[in-house]
Amino acid sequence: MAFREIARGVYMLAPQRGSFSSNIYLLGGKENVLIDSGLAVDAGRLVSSLAILGILPKNIAMVLHTHGHCDHIGGSVRFPGSQLWMSRHDGRLVNAKDASFTACAMMGQGCYPKIGEFYSGTQVFSINDYRLLAIETPGHTRGSVCFYDADAKVLFSGDTLFKGAVGRHDLASGDKQELAGSIALLSGLDAKMLFPGHGQALKEKTGENFALCNALLD
Ligand SMILES: [Zn+2]
Repeated sequence: MAFREIARGVYMLAPQRGSFSSNIYLLGGKENVLIDSGLAVDAGRLVSSLAILGILPKNIAMVLHTHGHCDHIGGSVRFPGSQLWMSRHDGRLVNAKDASFTACAMMGQGCYPKIGEFYSGTQVFSINDYRLLAIETPGHTRGSVCFYDADAKVLFSGDTLFKGAVGRHDLASGDKQELAGSIALLSGLDAKMLFPGHGQALKEKTGENFALCNALLD
């Protein structure tokens, strides 16, 4: 299994069967940027999947984390020369090696990358042809963010929104009301493609998915 191009310049690495690692997205081209990095135990597979595309760890400029759970951040320890980004709330707890918050305790993990960069309220990343706005979407964790490109109509939704489901709100710092508010906020975006933190990417009927997921939290 390797990275698969799912939109122009966007590649997806789905986890191996049986792994609870997150999806990993690569914005590849002149600049190479990852969105989330999966479990630490699957980091070797991530590095070898990048190598198939001719990309070395030192070629990864940034890892943009959607939130601080261990199944999204563990692979980032392989990119010590890259900028590692996260929200201030979640990033502080990762840097404090909080095993409860990161779900490391629950999932039997113990890897904590050093988060050095924190999103501002209106953070925009220009990466190749994409302009990704980091949108604060609390609810799954307090510091969860999604990334949205208004021109490409692409939404990277982390563990906030999936195909046919919403994220858990019963973990540390999660909140059902906040999650409902975040889903409602995302529903107002003109997203045609949904690239979630787990499960399948969605390239059609995205509006119907929003309607379904809003109803789940009513
Ligand atoms: Zn999560």
